[in-house]
Formats: sequence, C-alpha cells, structure tokens
Amino acid sequence: MLKSTSSKEIMDEYLRDESKRTGSSERIFFPKNEADVISILRDHPGMPVTVQGSRTGVTGGCVPDGGLTVNMEQMNQVLDFRRDEKAAAITVQPGVLLQTLRSFILPHKLFFPPDPTETTASLGGMVSCNSSGARSFRYGSIRDYVLALDLILPGGDKLHLERGSITAKENRFTLSTCSGRRISGKLTDLQMPRVKKHTAGYYIRPDMDLIDLFIGAEGTLGIITSIKLKLVSAKKETWGSVIFLPDEASALALVKLVRQETPDSLSPEALEFFGSDTLHLLRQAQLTKTALTEMELIRQDACCAVYVEYACDQRASLIQAFEDTCHCIESVGGNPEQTWAAINAYHMEKLHLFRHAAPECINRKISEIKRTCPAITKLGTDMSVPDSRLEEVFSLYRSGLAEEGLTSAIFGHIGNNHFHVNVIPKNMDEFNRTKKLFSRWAEVVVAMDGTVSAEHGIGKLKTSLLKQLYSKEKLAEMAKIKSLFDPDWLLNRGNIFSDPVL
Ligand SMILES: Cc1cc2nc3c(=O)[nH]c(=O)nc-3n(C[C@H](O)[C@H](O)[C@H](O)COP(=O)(O)OP(=O)(O)OC[C@H]3O[C@@H](n4cnc5c(N)ncnc54)[C@H](O)[C@@H]3O)c2cc1C
Repeated sequence: MLKSTSSKEIMDEYLRDESKRTGSSERIFFPKNEADVISILRDHPGMPVTVQGSRTGVTGGCVPDGGLTVNMEQMNQVLDFRRDEKAAAITVQPGVLLQTLRSFILPHKLFFPPDPTETTASLGGMVSCNSSGARSFRYGSIRDYVLALDLILPGGDKLHLERGSITAKENRFTLSTCSGRRISGKLTDLQMPRVKKHTAGYYIRPDMDLIDLFIGAEGTLGIITSIKLKLVSAKKETWGSVIFLPDEASALALVKLVRQETPDSLSPEALEFFGSDTLHLLRQAQLTKTALTEMELIRQDACCAVYVEYACDQRASLIQAFEDTCHCIESVGGNPEQTWAAINAYHMEKLHLFRHAAPECINRKISEIKRTCPAITKLGTDMSVPDSRLEEVFSLYRSGLAEEGLTSAIFGHIGNNHFHVNVIPKNMDEFNRTKKLFSRWAEVVVAMDGTVSAEHGIGKLKTSLLKQLYSKEKLAEMAKIKSLFDPDWLLNRGNIFSDPVL
C-alpha cells in the first residue's frame, strides 16, 4: 500500500535539506515503485509536487514550498545488474544510495567514479543535480555514466530515454512518451561556460543526446523512477596523500605543477584543497570527532593542504607518481616529509573521512547559528573557472572575505578550479553581506567564462546567480522547455527558475 503522511512530527523532519532551508507541504508520499509515482500524479491533478531523494542537497532543491512531496527513499531496489567481458551496467530505483551501490559492486571488482563526498546521497538526487565529486577531476560527472532513464511526467505519462537513441537536429527534437504522445520542441542556442564541471540550468548543446537534458534538470522536467548506469573496472590499488604546505600560494603552485607534469596515463584521480581556515576547523574537530581523533594531529605549522589520489593496476606506476609528486612539493617550497600517505584501503578510508569532515564541520556550525538566527541558511559557493584563472579567482575570494571581515572555510575541488567558499556568519548582517559578496564574485566568475554552479545545482537558493550567468531571454527559452514537459509548472516549483513566468 502506498504510504503517505501529514503528521506534523514526521513532516518537520522531511521539510528541510542540508542547506538548512525549511519548507511546508500538505502531505508526503513514500512510493515503492513506478506505479505508485504514476498514481500520485494521476490522483492529484493540478497539485504542485516536490521530489526528494536523501535530502543531502545544499540548495533547497528538495525543500517544498507547499503542495505535495514525493520522497523516493523507499524506491531503493537494484533492478538489474549485467556484466560481460566488455561492459558492466546496473539499473536501480532512484532511492538507492551511493554507498549501497558501492557495496553492491565492490565484490565484482567494479567501480562507479562519481563520488560526492556525502555517500548517503541517492542516485536519483545525484542524476538530478548532475552530481560530481573529488574524482570528477579524472572521470567527469555522473552525466558520463547515465545510460538510460525512466521519468514520469505530470499527469502520469512515462518517458523512457536511452543514451544514443534520440538526438536533437539543428536544435529541434521530438520525444515520444510510452503512451505515444509526441513532445516536440526547440533548444535555445546556449553558450555554456567553458569549464569541465557545470550544473547551472539545463544542459543544452546543438546536436545533443536528449537524455542529457534531463540530467541536472533538478527534477523540474519529470520524476526519475529508474536509472541505468555504466560501471567500470576497479583499479587494483588506490593511494592518496594529504600534503601539508606552508602557505596557500604554494598549494596553488603545486596543483598547477601536478596538472602540467603528470602524463595523462597517470593523471590523479582527485586533486583537493583545504584552505588555512578549513584546517583550523579540522584541528578543532580533531579534538572532539571520534573518527578524526584516531588520526595523527594536523601539524601546527601547516597553513593549508592539498589531497592527491592516484589509482593504478601497477604498483610501480603508483610509486613513480608519488615520487613525481614529492619533486613537485619540493619545487613549490614544501616538505614531502610533512605528508600523510595512505597506501591501503584502511588508511584511504581515514583520508576520505578527513576530506568529508570539512563540509560536515561547516554544516554543523550553520545548524548551531540557526538556533539564534533561524533565517540563516548554508552560505557556500560552488563556482568554477577555466584552468588559466585559478590564482585570480582564489585571490578574488580571499580579498573579498578579508575586506568584509567574514569567518570562512575554503575547501574543495582545486583540480577543477572549483572551490567551495563557505562563510559562517555571526548574524543577519553578515549573512546579507555575504550574499552580496557572492553575487559580486559571480559577476567576475561569469566574465572569466566560469560557472555559478559546478556541482550542487541552482535549487531555490541560487536562482539569482543563474540570472547573472544567462540573459533573461535565454532563461525564458529554457523556461519554454520546462513548459513542454510540465505545462502547468507543477514539478519542483522554485528550482532553477524563481518564478513560473519569467
Ligand atoms: C557533507 C556534504 C558533502 C557533499 N559533497 C558533495 C560533492 O562532493 N559533490 C556533489 O555533487 N554534491 C555534494 N553534496 C550535495 C548533495 O549530496 C548532492 O547534491 C546529491 O546529489 C543530492 O542527492 P540527494 O539524494 O540527497 O538529493 P536531494 O537533496 O533529496 O535532492 C536534490 C535535487 O534532486 C531532486 N530529485 C531527487 N530525487 C529525484 C528524482 N527521483 N527525480 C527527480 N528529481 C529528484 C530534488 O527535487 C532536488 O531538486 C554534499 C552534501 C553534503 C551534505
């Protein structure tokens, strides 16, 4: 039987995500299968619907503003798994968690590269946000691994999309739903930013595969009910190291050097950054957080750190990669001795915990502040710029924070010039000033041909930044695409577009 509730106690739990934004809803449904999703949409014509995965999103995308909520956590079954000598693929319901998928494929020596550090994220949420993570430096985002999708449109019609089956021709496309309804439309001529990671607004290319339109669409075009994913062979060994450095300029120089010097065949899996402010937070966490107290203490003389990860089938290549990295560390004025190295699964897990502790500590701080300032939500950027702009954008962030006198924590995917600049505001004045600062940064980042969101999506909290990336006309053309699939703008209202009529 289809489970649903309007109990205030349960609703309160479900009306927020990790952005710390809270919403409202008339009833929450917990479908178990596609038929349940269809019946919710058919039985409630004209009702706005917000879709939820695991609610680990940080932009309020799954937080409803009224209407019905459809939570996918009980659609958590693996539907199919196939492997032959050439390829492997898995088909899952959208509520399957990343950590469940990983455990499922591990005994088969398979690997699923997209890796948001929050492993309780659902695959439906990940596809909807075109999620990525540390290893996207080498492997790209989840878009590159989606082979097929099933989606339910408002009204209950089903769309089945397979990669390679329908492409746009001269910006025009026609899709047929499973009931035979034809949906024809025109794609806007959109110049997307020239960065490796981008998930702000719809993905649009002239002769694109239509499946890509629905990846990263933040649930605004349909409810995903099934996902087929490509899996790759796992490498025999993965080694990682956290390299402590005397100043942030050395960290940027190290990253540039590693990017230039490493042959493509041994490109790092991940290149991550922990700013001076983030190391400060992690030092505090090491005193209290059990998983981190078991680790060696962060050196007091370390200013910041870079995390590098390599994976390979030949141990000799890994040794070579580590030696090359040591030379790079020396060339930028660092000391290779001041490095935590992990060369087995146990120690690798410790380093991943350390990496994950950065956003966790910040989210906890925001929850604490929210007790005295309830209107505060998470304040973190997700912008990325082309390689040539790395130093420029970092100095923009540091000078802006210093001028405003804000408490910050910078960390993230430095390999893709993609920092998460987090601000921990003390009061509403700092909160409002930070939002203005982010908007000023967005203007500069857009001028650098960068993106306002590289991996978290726009959700409800970053719609004003999207308006800085694309003109009103382009957004109106994008909105027309939504209207084709969702004519009454019932699905995930408020995501990507702040208002139905632009
Ligand atoms: C500590 C921490 C670390 C994080 N690190 C990363 C990171 O490294 N990389 C990264 O990309 N993200 C990261 N995130 C953000 C978050 O985990 C991702 O955005 C993730 O993809 C969200 O998945 P979810 O299941 O929680 O989705 P939710 O938060 O529930 O929803 C996200 C969006 O997807 C939509 N949606 C969910 N399921 C469906 C569906 N079945 N059909 C249609 N729409 C749907 C929702 O409506 C919403 O718009 C992090 C978050 C936290 C808290």
